[in-house]
Formats: sequence, structure tokens, C-alpha cells
Amino acid sequence: MSGLDETPPEFEAVVVGAGPAGVTCVGNLLERKVAPILWVDDGFDGGRMNRKYREVPSNTKVSLFINFATAVAPFRKIVSGTPSRDRWEEPSESDGVAVSGDKPDKLQALRSMDPDEGCQLSHASDMILMLTEGLRRDPGVTTRRGRVMTADFDDATEKWSVTIRTEDQSATGFKSARAKRMVLCTGSSPTEVPLPGNVVDLPHLDLDTCLSPTYLKQKLTPLGPTTVSVIGASHSAILVLRNLYNLARTDKPDLKVRWLTRHALRYAEFMDGWILRDNTGLKGEAATWAKDNLEPEKFKTSDVSKYIDAISYEKGQEKTVFEQHLPGSDFVIQAIGYTRDPIPSLSTSTAKDITPYFEHDKGTFKYVQQSTSGVVGDLVPLPHVYGAGIAWPERVTDPHGNVELAVGFGKFQKAVKRWCPHWD
Ligand SMILES: Cc1cc2nc3c(=O)[nH]c(=O)nc-3n(C[C@H](O)[C@H](O)[C@H](O)COP(=O)(O)OP(=O)(O)OC[C@H]3O[C@@H](n4cnc5c(N)ncnc54)[C@H](O)[C@@H]3O)c2cc1C
Repeated sequence: MSGLDETPPEFEAVVVGAGPAGVTCVGNLLERKVAPILWVDDGFDGGRMNRKYREVPSNTKVSLFINFATAVAPFRKIVSGTPSRDRWEEPSESDGVAVSGDKPDKLQALRSMDPDEGCQLSHASDMILMLTEGLRRDPGVTTRRGRVMTADFDDATEKWSVTIRTEDQSATGFKSARAKRMVLCTGSSPTEVPLPGNVVDLPHLDLDTCLSPTYLKQKLTPLGPTTVSVIGASHSAILVLRNLYNLARTDKPDLKVRWLTRHALRYAEFMDGWILRDNTGLKGEAATWAKDNLEPEKFKTSDVSKYIDAISYEKGQEKTVFEQHLPGSDFVIQAIGYTRDPIPSLSTSTAKDITPYFEHDKGTFKYVQQSTSGVVGDLVPLPHVYGAGIAWPERVTDPHGNVELAVGFGKFQKAVKRWCPHWD
């Protein structure tokens, strides 16, 4: 398979993206004997977490990462180092390899830690990289390094045709393929919105990179006296504030931080068998640091207040407050959430440039049908397209009736395990 004119190869599924969600979906599809799979990603390097968050402390326990890595048979084979005698079979002691935590397997780094504590995300990322490499070697998986640009559904054959753009123009191999199903695991990036009023031109610092103490130090230490404004009270905002504070008290005492926040800090709470604000509240080291330093009763006497100036405001006051407090900042960091990354351009025989609407309870999509005369019709299912991960999470309701989007390794695994049998 080497040229554009050759017949595109056919697959049972194409999985777009190889972050934690893509890994989850390939593992679950293989477990359900859905193969061959075409797996496409820009780098097969663990997604955003490995690229950007290796230095970030996890907001989940080590045990959850271990559970994730052993949740499906294809993962367990990789983890235990079982040779691919029959990839559908569970590994056993007779394979001569360990199948449980009491003997060495490829999770030793995680297993050596306290299962009830968090860890640096480098450890979770290494686990994802290990699974990625193992899945790539599976005979049922074909990988292409590149980007899925377009996906067209043919009503007659009921198959998706995808085109793949590779950075390396000299790369050989197919650049289009057909598949019965397409699974989008395309990820999200920090949300950046235009700031209102006369502060629109202030230089921005990328949130993801500010989550790295190494990057922040490299970027800010060579500068003279510096003022950085942080907008938001998200988990990421707290981690960035902590990084900035640590830099100010060590290598850069001329660093000042203005923290603009619209609401009081919200924490996850461990209830009887479930977690209140599991997906929206602060957890782990970020929660501990915020409780110890940022809560109003602690803040005034905390060393943190030597460097961080806290400015709270109400919704609707953004323009006034930003115009008053942001001028004079050398950089602004927006820590106000994450937005889906662009997806491949989707079309069917009857609809072009489809905007898909995710069904958070099933992992499926709908789109607005249009007649040939352009009349807007009903929402109809987008055939055989599925989603998972931070961009396409499950919607969950807790015992108190609060509705949240479930984001995290364990949650992707739980949702995909339930959804995947219906992705036939
Ligand atoms: C700061 C932060 C900390 C977090 N901490 C934790 C934690 O402690 N524990 C936890 O369980 N979860 C955590 N999460 C949540 C979640 O697990 C991660 O965000 C995770 O990286 C999401 O994985 P993903 O696969 O959905 O997306 P990503 O990791 O973003 O992967 C998407 C992949 O798809 C590729 N891609 C996109 N479009 C295309 C295309 N058209 N063609 C080919 N490839 C494409 C991208 O290049 C990328 O490799 C955290 C999230 C954040 C933001």
C-alpha cells in the first residue's frame, strides 16, 4: 500500500487520537474483537498529558491509574508482558509471566507508590506510553502518524472514508482509508477568550505551559520585575498560582501575581461511597495547597499573600474589573477551562461540513439534517461515529442530583466499557 491511487485499505474501525481516551478505545475495541483497527495520531506520544502535564500532580489516586491499566484483556497482556500467542486470550501463569500485582509486571513504578495518594502525571503518562506501544504492536492494529483531516460517509456502503495528512511529505503508505466505524478521541485545549474592554492586547501565556514549573522558570526568570495576572479558580488555575508562588519565593522574588477570581474555591468532598464535585472540585495537592493558603482566613497570614494579590468579582463585572486591574500586567494567563480541539471535517452523501452534537449518555453523535433546498430538518444520528475522552465525556448525575461531565482515566474507561458494546 504505497500510493494515493491505490484502493484505500479497509478497517473495522478508525480511532482518531492516541491520548488516554484513544488508548482506552483501542483496548476496548480489541477486547470486543473489533479488528482490524486503524489508529491515527500526530505523535503517538501519550496525548496532551505526556506532552504538557508531566510535572503536574495528579488529581486522582495511584490505584485508579493501576485499575485503568488492567481494565481490559489487551491491556493486561501488555502489562504482564505476555507474548501475543493469541491476542484475545487472557494471560495466565502458564505463560511464564506475572498476571497480578504480587509479581513484577510493567506497572512496578505505580505499584511502588501509595495507592491511596496521587502522583506526578509523568507516571500516568509513562503508563499510557507503555500501553500505546503495546497496542501498536498488536496484529489487529495499524497505526498512521498524522492527522485525520476529512471523513466522508458513504450511504451505499455504510463506510467512512478518511483522509490523513502526514507532516512528513516523503512518508510512504496510504493517505486514505475506509472504516465501518469512526471513534473520535480528539482532546481539548485551554480555553482562551478575547478579554473585554481596553485590555485586549495584553500578552498571553499559554495555560498548559504554565502548568510546568520548568517552563515558567525559563520564561520568567530572565525578565526584570514581572507582573502576571491569572484569571480563574479552576484546578489548573490553582496549580499555576502554586507554580508562580514557588518561583517567586525562590528564583524570582520580583514576581508579582494578580489573581482574578469570580467565585469561592470549590473542593471535591468524599461522601459515603461517592465524591461530591468529583469532576469540578479541587482535589489532591491543588486542594491541599489552596485550603492551606488561599482560603480567606488563611490567605492574609500566608506567605503566599506577599506575592499574590487576590481580586474577587461577580459575574458580569469582568469589563470593569479587568480594565481596573489588568493594565500593568506583563502577561495574562486564562485558566477558565478547556475547549474541544477541532475535529476532522465531516460529511455524508447529503450533508457537508457537519456540526456534530455529542450524546453524553451513549458516546454517539447527532447532526442537523438539511434538505437539498437547504431547509433545516431534525436532529438525526450521525451513523457509526462515536466519541470519548476529555472532548467527549459522559454526563453523570450524583446522588444529590448534580450533573457533571466525567473526565479522567477511570471515567473514560467506565464509559467506554459500557458504550463500546453498542458501537457495533
Ligand atoms: C491539567 C490537567 C490535569 C489532569 N489530571 C488528571 C488526573 O490526575 N487524572 C485523570 O484521570 N485525568 C486527569 N486529567 C483529565 C484527562 O485524563 C486528561 O486531560 C487526558 O489527557 C485527556 O485525554 P484525551 O485522550 O481525551 O485527550 P488528549 O490527551 O488531548 O489526546 C488527544 C489526541 O488526539 C490527537 N488528535 C486530535 N485531533 C486529531 C486528528 N484529527 N487526527 C489525529 N490525531 C488527532 C492529539 O494530537 C492528541 O494526541 C487532567 C486534565 C488536565 C487538563
